[in-house]
Amino acid sequence: MLNLSLKELGALLAARKISSAELTRAFLDRIEALNPALNAFITVDPEKSLEQARHADARRAAGDAAPLTGIPIAHKDIFCAKGWRTTCGSKMLANFVAPYDAHVIERCTGAGLVSLGKTNMDEFAMGSSNETSYFGPVKNPWDPAAVPGGSSGGSAAAVAARLAPAATGTDTGGSIRQPAALCGISGIKPTYGVVSRYGMIAFASSLDQGGPMAKSAEDLALLLNAMAGFDERDSTSLRRPPEDYARALEAPLAGLTIGLPREYFAEGLSEDVGRAVEEAVAQYRRLGAKTVEVSLPNTRLSIAAYYVLAPAEASSNLSRYDGVRYGYRAPEYTDLADMYGRTRADGFGPEVKRRIMIGTYVLSHGYYDAYYLKAQKLRRLIARDFAEAFAQCDLLIGPTSPTVAFNQGEKSSDPVQMYLSDIYTIAVNLAGLPGMSIPVGFGKEGRPVGLQIVGNYFSEAKMLNCAHQFQRATDWHARVPAGIPAI
Ligand code: GLN
Repeated sequence: MLNLSLKELGALLAARKISSAELTRAFLDRIEALNPALNAFITVDPEKSLEQARHADARRAAGDAAPLTGIPIAHKDIFCAKGWRTTCGSKMLANFVAPYDAHVIERCTGAGLVSLGKTNMDEFAMGSSNETSYFGPVKNPWDPAAVPGGSSGGSAAAVAARLAPAATGTDTGGSIRQPAALCGISGIKPTYGVVSRYGMIAFASSLDQGGPMAKSAEDLALLLNAMAGFDERDSTSLRRPPEDYARALEAPLAGLTIGLPREYFAEGLSEDVGRAVEEAVAQYRRLGAKTVEVSLPNTRLSIAAYYVLAPAEASSNLSRYDGVRYGYRAPEYTDLADMYGRTRADGFGPEVKRRIMIGTYVLSHGYYDAYYLKAQKLRRLIARDFAEAFAQCDLLIGPTSPTVAFNQGEKSSDPVQMYLSDIYTIAVNLAGLPGMSIPVGFGKEGRPVGLQIVGNYFSEAKMLNCAHQFQRATDWHARVPAGIPAI
């Protein structure tokens, strides 16, 4: 059952070969057995999951089942889910039980998907290695010495170890694509505004976007069908006609023009990742695609722009954690100001504090023009680079991450080194474009390599088609880490 796709699981459920309760139980048993070593989940609540599964079975018995009804998935612990503890990987929210559902959770529940629990993540989604979580680091199922990537590392590890058939994630600067790459799974960050941010705990609101993580592009398409949709409670949610993201999966790639951004194959790309990506490019040529070299000259500015803008927005978004309304409150204090100070000093970890300090600094009088405004201008230049590239090609491909998964502890004392692991993913968020990652081989020490596919606005169906055709011709996406027991 380990490698069954969402479609295959749906067919088993539809044929009554298995019930949702049985399927959910099987995954819960795996989580119980394997999660202590991986730490991919922060919260599991088998009773709640099984209740949802029984409800899905009843829906099916009543003839009211949708294609995914009864399939269990995992949710990143950034999505508020009514009655579930929702921590965002932080001590600040360690005891917070959400009183309402995020739009993504509502949509998944509406589709009949069952929740297996909440997955581990970097604190407030700030990180690239899952080491900033208050709940401890997640281990990479391919090698426990390696990080799973971040911030959606719990979701990526859960899917890679087959603890869940698929999962939700969020991506502000690469947090779906980079952990997908480092764990050998597939993930897509849609165009900004396609998935509602309502109930998705805010990090940097102009960049944050939810999306699916799964074993294959086909599964991503089906889960994105469930997750996407207009929601008036998110002012940047886009009112567009619903689309079927799986509609173009089978289209042949002949005639497709793929752009290879020169800057993504330059200095800084490790040899093993470069080699696997080159082989994937060759595979695309065999599938009938044409490749052209393009340039994204402002790529080198994207990390600097992002690490001004994202902290600026974060410093504002995180001001709500003041110990008054909800979340952690310091147990002892003298007056109100002291209560705020102690609450935030104890409740936030070092990376979150670093971002709040950078953010308040760049927004302060006298520095706003020099940093924040300047970064906004760079953001426009970066978006323009992509517009020019898409005049010459349909999609862009390149590496998702410059290296395979690094070791736990290797970069955690050097924030700049950590930030550089987002070099290929961040510009996509700054431009608001859709981006995805699929596994295309293995690099040093047998660790997975991800290929990034970037499309123009609203070209998710075409990107998924491009990824699916690759996955029909190769089997990298079907590989399971050694030592992961079958069911
Ligand atoms: N690694 C990046 C950061 O630390 C991106 C995180 C994300 O996409 N949530 O901000």
